[in-house]
Amino acid sequence: MTAPHDPATNPSPGDAAPDGDEPAMRLALQEAAAATAHGDVPVGAVVVVGGRVVSSRHNERERSADPTAHAEILALRDAAAATGTWRLEEATMVVTLEPCPMCAGALVAARIGRLVYGATDPKAGACGSLYQLCADPRLNHELPVTAGVLADEAGALLSDFFAARR
Ligand SMILES: [Zn+2]
Repeated sequence: MTAPHDPATNPSPGDAAPDGDEPAMRLALQEAAAATAHGDVPVGAVVVVGGRVVSSRHNERERSADPTAHAEILALRDAAAATGTWRLEEATMVVTLEPCPMCAGALVAARIGRLVYGATDPKAGACGSLYQLCADPRLNHELPVTAGVLADEAGALLSDFFAARR
């Protein structure tokens, strides 16, 4: 007989940190704000493993002239380098905006344990809005998704950015 699962002493990828997802999301929001310094849309992403942040990046599409330089892709690459494996089943991705199809595909490819995001993206979101790539049984990996964490702050960063460009 196994003991009841206790998230406080035996965390698994599906559990929120003891103080919830907000501290990691605050870090992701700081990353997002940094993207505007080089004219990039403010999206930030951090990867957490065992309560420890292993990577923290923001969108660099403009800065790098790279269509794949979304915050999530860069954070996944750093997390894989930091942990020494492409297989990130123990990791939680925390990102300020709902991932697009490319990034959701990368989360599945990385076998990420869990996704937390802030604002929804009705125009490109692939984790509940337009598609649900994180919970499609036809794919070879599914992961739990928590949406709406500090969504107002993530959304305000984006709307301020686009308002300033008009
Ligand atoms: Zn993306």
